[in-house]
Amino acid sequence: MTTATLTATVARARGVEQLVAGQATSDGAGVKLTRVLSQSLQHRLDPFLMLDAFGSDQPDDYIAGFPDHPHRGFETITYMIAGRMRHRDSAGHEGLLENGGVQWMTAGKGVIHSEIPQQEEGVMEGFQLWLNLPGGQKMCAPWYRDFKAGELPRLVTPEGVAVTVIAGQSHGLAGAVTRETTEPLYLDVHLPQGARFEQALPAGHSAFVYVYRGEVSIAGKPVPMQRMAILANEAQSDGVVMQASADAKVLLIAGRPLKEPIVQYGPFVMNTQEEIYQALRDHRDGRLGESAA
Ligand code: FE
Repeated sequence: MTTATLTATVARARGVEQLVAGQATSDGAGVKLTRVLSQSLQHRLDPFLMLDAFGSDQPDDYIAGFPDHPHRGFETITYMIAGRMRHRDSAGHEGLLENGGVQWMTAGKGVIHSEIPQQEEGVMEGFQLWLNLPGGQKMCAPWYRDFKAGELPRLVTPEGVAVTVIAGQSHGLAGAVTRETTEPLYLDVHLPQGARFEQALPAGHSAFVYVYRGEVSIAGKPVPMQRMAILANEAQSDGVVMQASADAKVLLIAGRPLKEPIVQYGPFVMNTQEEIYQALRDHRDGRLGESAA
């Protein structure tokens, strides 16, 4: 843990463009979740394709997990707040994701994987974010890494705001993962009531905040629990400033838009329809995860 000594000063803070409630849905073998970032927001929040929030103390809501399924063309970042999930994939990776850990998986040209809860009771809570890959990297070799909670860079500001830097950079602290093209920023920010937190953000980057505990206010606008605030891309803006109206926990996510065509068919996200057909053929013919190791 690092104590931040130098606090970035945001001169022109972004406002809130829109609050989004998310949609209750289920995925995998019947896991109940809230799709916070849905397909209709993919262009607005490019390079991010999806954000799911899952959280339940009812085993029936999560126990079946996500049996074998394919992915191609993007990255999945799973952040487990509470609970345990085992991951296995066709590239030979296996890992246990638990309590505060992050799994970063680049599907690239293709993986088939499973994500199965390793608990029969208790709370399972976390998030899965999908980050797009640029066209030239969609068919890259799969990549995978697990980070235990203690391996994730963390800082505490003088106001007592604790920040876990999953990706990108915050107050001089580099995150667990960096990506050149999309420059993703992924922070988990815990604010005591009344505390203020600033984060520098390039004006052109898509950015959003998801409040999963308490409430914050951004540029005077309250953002309640279980709401996503899409941050406006004002030309001269240089960051975001949030203030906790109650003890709060929020995800702050931002990245540089790819500005490429997005064609999604379920677990495949490519640039063209023909590439989707190719993914379906490769999957049908058993070629999707085969040469990945
Ligand atoms: Fe998956």
